[in-house]
Amino acid sequence: MGFGWLTRLGSPFLKIFWADISKNLNFFQSGPETAPVWGKSALELRLRQPPLQRLGRGANPSIGRVVPVCLSATRRKLCEMTDEQQDEQFYRDTEGVAFPKLNDHQLSLLEPLGERRLVKRGDLVYKAGQRDLGLTILLRGEIEAFEQRDDTEQILATAHERDFIGDVAMLQGTSALASARVTSPDAEILHIPALEMRRALAEIPGVSKTIVDALIMRRRRIRRDREFAGMRVLASRDARDGHQLDDFLDKNRIPHRLVEVESEQGQALTDRFHLTGRDLPVLITPGGRRLRQPSLREVAREAGLLRSLAEENESEIFSDLTIVGAGPAGLAAAVYAASEGLNTVVLESYAPGGQAGSSSLIENFFGFPTGVGGGELTWLAQLQAYRFGAKFSTPSQALSLNYNADGEYRVCLETEGCSAILRAKTVLIATGADYRRLDAEGREQFENMGVYYAATAMEGQICRNETVVIAGSGNSAGQAAMFLSEGAAKVLLVIRGKSITNKMSDYLARRVQARENIEILYQTEIRKMFGGKKLEQIELENTQTGERRMVRTPAVFSMVGARPCTEWLPPEIERDDKGFIKTGTSVAGAPAWQASKHQPSPLETSLPGIFAAGDVRSGSVKRCAAAVGEGGMAVAGVQFRLASSS
Ligand SMILES: Cc1cc2nc3c(=O)[nH]c(=O)nc-3n(C[C@H](O)[C@H](O)[C@H](O)COP(=O)(O)OP(=O)(O)OC[C@H]3O[C@@H](n4cnc5c(N)ncnc54)[C@H](O)[C@@H]3O)c2cc1C
Repeated sequence: MGFGWLTRLGSPFLKIFWADISKNLNFFQSGPETAPVWGKSALELRLRQPPLQRLGRGANPSIGRVVPVCLSATRRKLCEMTDEQQDEQFYRDTEGVAFPKLNDHQLSLLEPLGERRLVKRGDLVYKAGQRDLGLTILLRGEIEAFEQRDDTEQILATAHERDFIGDVAMLQGTSALASARVTSPDAEILHIPALEMRRALAEIPGVSKTIVDALIMRRRRIRRDREFAGMRVLASRDARDGHQLDDFLDKNRIPHRLVEVESEQGQALTDRFHLTGRDLPVLITPGGRRLRQPSLREVAREAGLLRSLAEENESEIFSDLTIVGAGPAGLAAAVYAASEGLNTVVLESYAPGGQAGSSSLIENFFGFPTGVGGGELTWLAQLQAYRFGAKFSTPSQALSLNYNADGEYRVCLETEGCSAILRAKTVLIATGADYRRLDAEGREQFENMGVYYAATAMEGQICRNETVVIAGSGNSAGQAAMFLSEGAAKVLLVIRGKSITNKMSDYLARRVQARENIEILYQTEIRKMFGGKKLEQIELENTQTGERRMVRTPAVFSMVGARPCTEWLPPEIERDDKGFIKTGTSVAGAPAWQASKHQPSPLETSLPGIFAAGDVRSGSVKRCAAAVGEGGMAVAGVQFRLASSS
């Protein structure tokens, strides 16, 4: 039998995941609530489940209609499948990747890194909430992973010989989501400590692909599971603080559930733990701990995101490169720097991924012809950086930076909630920019699904022959209006003030005013946005008259300005008139460079050894791929600086 994360005990397809179909054994063990079934291969049994029989050609008996013959067989199947059937197929398709058995060669590579241990029935291999787990490989016997939730215990998986235990938490060093205990009378495990495991994953390709792919896939399966609880946030339906905890855990990709206190389950939890309205929101950990009205830092600590970069009693932390900001630019730099052996620390004030992390579909990132979720893309980048040994701390906001040109560790950083001083030989500032968001009801729901912050050819396609709306009165709004008016039926330029020449260059304002299909709506604001999955219409209000009107549109372009996250930096780091950091030739005349025998590299700031990349940099193109490119390029400059100062 194989090792599989399963959570729906008793559901008709549960048993399949308990079966190791890759080995084609002729039995599988059921969960505690079901009796063992003998004599059938899992696959055979699986195919006898009623839902799959409906996946054949032609009619869908469940809805009694004939599927049009022009649909491809695959699409037709997907259209006919219920959510549960699609889950079922997903679990079946990913079983092989998620639960591989290690072969002799892989075991021989891993053996010298760990130690063999004999364990007996009932021994806990690890506990939910425990951090920095190493890799546990089962050499003999049986181990069960389980989630303890309130009064119930849910068996998630069972491991046997050559299986390894765990999920992505091991790679990230975050808290274990479940516990694991020995269920056979005795067992033998190979335990590889976390540090050694990371080294193996970075340096032994023969094992790293199998293990990393499996850990990632297991996490995907857990995230898809509708019953796995992980952390629970108990909050009132409309409470902002509860939703913020939910968003924070979500953006940091920690499996969790938001339980509304008004729901039946919410009431049960409230009674069980004797909670009152004043306690909310409450975080309930997989280990059963309750944190009343926790701060984000407390939640992060519980989830294992907030790591102490300093050892106990250490007052200083040293790094070759400290990266501030873990958006695409910071993550790319972390991957390259850590893979090149630099001691790399990454500080992130909210959640790795940055702006890209909140984009549901990035369609212009190269290599993904049908687009890629920004959260998924940046999560994988983060795991890659972990694998190479980069150290992350979230949420850790950089508060100030001090520079000493003479020291080896020339930069001193003060960070939120950390009493130790972070000393770095080089620093990359990748803090991006905050795009001002429109204060319109429903806006959040349509981010990237109708609300855009850039007008490129891609967005132009969406707007072809449609009415589109641009909010803003600066040059970027004017340029977007001119560009989009070429393909759109009509462009509505919505501005708060009475004139467009206050902020827009004269020549551009004249062109905008002269273009026939651009209408300027003065003293107007967008109040509400409506639609299904995508934006369909908006409500506008004339702030002078109070008159409201609805406009059908697939796209609103928010061009109301961006603020670079640079307020924490000293004035010696030169910025342009909008606050974006200058780099390369534009800082060659800065005092520090005048005194140096070197020239600044393209992404180096006015202080040698301090670099800037991505949206925070003056002149950057504000695109995901560009930020990634700059992050990688900055590391080349870092290497040069480290070599020239040694
Ligand atoms: C909704 C949306 C959709 C988008 N869609 C696309 C798209 O389809 N295609 C495309 O190419 N681009 C898109 N973009 C733009 C793209 O996401 C950005 O250009 C890119 O994310 C910039 O990356 P960055 O690393 O420079 O900065 P950011 O992504 O802004 O990341 C900066 C990070 O730094 C952190 N930070 C800030 N200050 C501090 C501090 N003091 N200490 C520690 N951390 C700090 C922030 O929390 C953040 O995580 C989109 C942007 C948005 C908002």
